[in-house]
Amino acid sequence: MAPPRVFKNYINGEWVPSGSGLTFDNINPANQSELVGLFQKSNRQDVENAIQAAKDAYKTWRVTPAPKRGEVLFRAASLLVERKETYAEQMTCEMGKILEETRGDVQEAIDMTYYMAGEGRRLFGQTTTSELPNKFCMWVRSPIGVCSLVTPWNFPMAIPSWKVMPALICGNTLVIKPASDTPLSTYNLVQTLVDAGVPRGVVNLVTGSGFEVGTALVVHDDVRVVSFTGSTEVGRKVAEACAGSFKHCCLEMGGKNIIMVMEDANLDLAVDGAIWGGFGTTGQRCTASSRVAVHKDVYHEFVEKFVARARALKVGNGLDPAVQVGPLINENQLKTVEEYVEIGKDEGAKLLCGGERLADGDYDAGWFYSPTIFGDCKPEMRICREEIFGPVVSVIPCESLEEAIEIGNGVVYGLSSSIYTRNVNRAFQAMRDMETGIFYVNAPTIGAETHLPFGGTKQTGNGHREAATTALDFYSDWKSVYVDYSDKLQRAQIDT
Ligand code: NAD
Repeated sequence: MAPPRVFKNYINGEWVPSGSGLTFDNINPANQSELVGLFQKSNRQDVENAIQAAKDAYKTWRVTPAPKRGEVLFRAASLLVERKETYAEQMTCEMGKILEETRGDVQEAIDMTYYMAGEGRRLFGQTTTSELPNKFCMWVRSPIGVCSLVTPWNFPMAIPSWKVMPALICGNTLVIKPASDTPLSTYNLVQTLVDAGVPRGVVNLVTGSGFEVGTALVVHDDVRVVSFTGSTEVGRKVAEACAGSFKHCCLEMGGKNIIMVMEDANLDLAVDGAIWGGFGTTGQRCTASSRVAVHKDVYHEFVEKFVARARALKVGNGLDPAVQVGPLINENQLKTVEEYVEIGKDEGAKLLCGGERLADGDYDAGWFYSPTIFGDCKPEMRICREEIFGPVVSVIPCESLEEAIEIGNGVVYGLSSSIYTRNVNRAFQAMRDMETGIFYVNAPTIGAETHLPFGGTKQTGNGHREAATTALDFYSDWKSVYVDYSDKLQRAQIDT
């Protein structure tokens, strides 16, 4: 058997091993005996080197004309298009989601890269009038400096691209640390940027643990911007680490999203949405539709159809085109799901389907769990309030739209919500009243597009938005500029 491939860090324009001399395994969650590759178990010195490289490169990248920076991104986007199938297959091998979805993940990176490349010829500021004569006023975007980007495993190329591309187009340099379950897809993204001609030191990749590498990246004095996507628990630590030196800090964290099904909804469409939103990516999306509130008049009909469809889902290795639901990412996540299913049963929720680990035959070597639905749930149950991050959906009966909205908003998270109704008044009422950063009508809670802001409220986020032009606001500082061409001293507020 050929020895496993060893993947290196990318620091200052070179692929280099970690000074630790150690590596960690990247394993296929559908088949634990398949080693995807060995990645660098980096240490603080590796982080130091990467940040120094980014700091040095910033001097020239910040003054490189933005359209030129955009050209690198345009080339990277076309390379991603060429490599889409290979990268998607590799992503399925390292994180388990089905090929159709990993193609979507790479496509999202392509979309974001093209989108931000185009921003190189915009990066609009504003001009305005002055209160004084012969004076010109404007505000313009300025790059900020070195960015530390820390990403999760569930969208291992898309999420890095949401951070890398706006950071670069705004003129910043960066160090990225991917989650240890999925370093290959971020490696592929960085390799693509290297092949597209990104200058030395502008993009740096350091793999390794959150504790060792992640912490070092977010506390470093030379880092001005930290963008983190992951759990609310770790996000809180990142926010605290950034507070001391007042770094720009963007946090995108957990969710407990809801679909509200009204009595006038197209029920088959709502069931389609609940299946895709609840079990797509094996429920491991921050936007997963993990709760469904259903009006009592259609509750039984909805539940019957939903359970029948969930039972028919084919679970297995995501490379098999017939498979609809892949494995969980790792053993810990599987245990979390098992624990929550027990909690749900103890709380008195009705287990309608699933609720078991799949471990026989083909399932033996992977972390597979059956699509699970709890019925007759109460909003205060832990399975209805806490993020499970697995193929578990809680269905909650309700009496009215107002009650559904109250249930929907009754959690600490505020990422995504949706309503199924044919009544436009109800749709707009829900749109107005849901406290989430994303809202859908007649579609599930998942499925963001790159030119719309992405992010959540409450304990999902800290007020910033990724994607769209809103990402540019995070990765640049506004500079207000006054040009006085009167040839004399003019004093604002005084020489009126
Ligand atoms: P996680 O919080 O465990 O890890 C995220 C990243 O942080 C990883 O790279 C990890 O190594 C690193 N990390 C861990 N401890 C750290 C520390 N002390 N300092 C700095 N970095 C540290 O999250 P995960 O398990 O990889 O991802 C799942 C979570 O991500 C879920 O809660 C999900 O909802 C959330 N998520 C949110 C969004 C969003 O946009 N809101 C998108 C995807 C995933």
